[in-house]
Amino acid sequence: MKAIYTGSFDPITYGHLDIIERASKMYDHLYIVLLDNPDKHYLFTADERVDLIKKVTEHLDNVSVECSHMLAVAYAKSKGCQIIVRGLRSEEDYQYESLMSRINTRLDPSVETVFLMANKDYDIISSSLVKELSAYHHDVRQFVAEPVENALKKKYKKDE
Ligand code: ADP
Repeated sequence: MKAIYTGSFDPITYGHLDIIERASKMYDHLYIVLLDNPDKHYLFTADERVDLIKKVTEHLDNVSVECSHMLAVAYAKSKGCQIIVRGLRSEEDYQYESLMSRINTRLDPSVETVFLMANKDYDIISSSLVKELSAYHHDVRQFVAEPVENALKKKYKKDE
């Protein structure tokens, strides 16, 4: 069985990576799908985000990364996947994710959403936290892998 794991990954954190590593053990193939919403403002371009995801998931053979402008259920179908994986950190995530999952079921009942509870070591991590700390030049090594840390340093140096 194959699955997709969707998100903005702006940028990918150890929290995302933990979900990816666990889901890659559950499914034959995991497509990481970067949803690029033209109405949203991202720190990293889609290509930069894809590139960072590729670098930090190099060690996983059944994982690939793609960028999509499609709805998650449509994308899952186009890849022959019946599962959308999502991570849950908090009640706030639950509120939002349960709504999205019900909408997706309405759109296509053949695609299931599977939730993995965040690892307690990483459940406070979010891409926004990491960006905010980096903007203040605070060390984010405990939250992101080295290529991501370096990319953040570059971004905030350039934009100063
Ligand atoms: P989105 O724009 O879809 O919220 P994110 O990149 O923020 O994109 O998150 C993608 C998925 O990863 C979501 O299911 C989110 O709840 C989950 N996630 C984000 N951070 C963590 C974390 N630290 N631990 C576990 N899951 C996480």
